[in-house]
Amino acid sequence: MENDQETVEVEKIRTSEDGSEPYNVIIIGAGAAGVGVAISLMHAGVEDFLLVDREEIGASFAAWPEETRFITPSFPSNSIGMLDLNSIAIGVSPAFNMRVEHPTGKQYAEHLQGLAAYFELPVCERMEIKSIEKNDEVFKLKTGSVTLQSKNVIWAAGEYQYPSLNIFEGSELCRHTSTVPKYGDLEGDDFLIIGGYESGIDAAYHLAKSNKQVRVFDINNPWGEESSDPSVALSTYSFERITDTMFEENVELFSETMISSVTFEDGTYEVTTQDGQVFKSKVQPLLASGFEGSHKFVSHLFEEREDKFLSLTERDESTIVPGMYLCGPSVRHDGHIFCFIYKYRQRFGIVAQAIAESLDIPTDEFIAAYKGWGMYLDDLSCCGQECLTC
Ligand SMILES: Cc1cc2nc3c(=O)[nH]c(=O)nc-3n(C[C@H](O)[C@H](O)[C@H](O)COP(=O)(O)OP(=O)(O)OC[C@H]3O[C@@H](n4cnc5c(N)ncnc54)[C@H](O)[C@@H]3O)c2cc1C
Repeated sequence: MENDQETVEVEKIRTSEDGSEPYNVIIIGAGAAGVGVAISLMHAGVEDFLLVDREEIGASFAAWPEETRFITPSFPSNSIGMLDLNSIAIGVSPAFNMRVEHPTGKQYAEHLQGLAAYFELPVCERMEIKSIEKNDEVFKLKTGSVTLQSKNVIWAAGEYQYPSLNIFEGSELCRHTSTVPKYGDLEGDDFLIIGGYESGIDAAYHLAKSNKQVRVFDINNPWGEESSDPSVALSTYSFERITDTMFEENVELFSETMISSVTFEDGTYEVTTQDGQVFKSKVQPLLASGFEGSHKFVSHLFEEREDKFLSLTERDESTIVPGMYLCGPSVRHDGHIFCFIYKYRQRFGIVAQAIAESLDIPTDEFIAAYKGWGMYLDDLSCCGQECLTC
């Protein structure tokens, strides 16, 4: 796939200021979710949409620490009708495209850029949406300088650029793993990592491979979870890493250990647990506390669930503002978590269908094709932990 994406020039964007017609759809965020749902809209026959990103296509993936790789494997299984686990579109296989089983973030960002170019998606990069309101049936999306208008909006702005930072006293003294360009470049020998799910274990693994001493704390027991759902327990990839000799030699895991504060005095960090244990290091502790997510920026357009995720209709549309959709890892239905690509991609077709039908575009063939590829999950009753589709 050629990586020669031509983005839409800002001057060619239709704005409210020049009195032009609203778009049918504007998608905010050109990550895996935004690019994937854009391709689904195209497949569903929806025209006149725009995909905007405040940085570049795949910017979050490109910002991963250099050593971090996908935990979900890619495999060119499309030939037997099983979509590659890391694919965001029918007919696409990252494994075939990149010849890599566990791509790095940078490789995957390039893959997304290649897809946007191949499908000739109308993408406008370096355009940040600062606010969204709906007036007179039309959404107004303000950047710093212009207002875009659209009949429908899909929020796909992701989580990675919105880390969880303020979680206990002194947490601002720690460094979030999402700000680390390369674990191999971190100075010091004695690392304290707060958070022991995928990012924490990933950080511990790479540091251990550089022969650093690492202690990992988690309030739960991620490496002891019985669940088969990788949204709940560690992935197989991480379990394998835990058994690596250098991990076993260099990493100490503390489960059910809640950190209550971090202090820094005389060049030493002190990490205190809720039950009064104190761990010291001269190295800045790493925070692998996960992500708040971007959905809070559009929470005024949705009802909120008790857990602060957004209430969605069966079509991933706002229950209070028609035409406002959510796509990507923040999608929740009851207890179902759609935080991996192979999970949330199954909702692209649902959103594309809803928008196509609102524009009187027939969708029968589209739905049949998406169902055939496992890209259309409308029956959530099947999704228990051991369910093969979820
Ligand atoms: C370390 C790590 C490892 C992971 N490994 C896997 C894995 O192996 N398999 C898997 O399936 N998932 C994995 N995930 C999860 C996966 O990365 C996310 O599900 C995915 O990045 C989400 O894609 P997205 O498109 O929703 O968000 P993003 O990729 O973050 O894209 C959102 C885009 O929105 C843009 N944006 C944000 N705000 C605005 C705004 N206001 N205006 C305009 N643009 C905006 C951003 O610039 C960004 O490009 C991993 C995540 C992490 C952090």
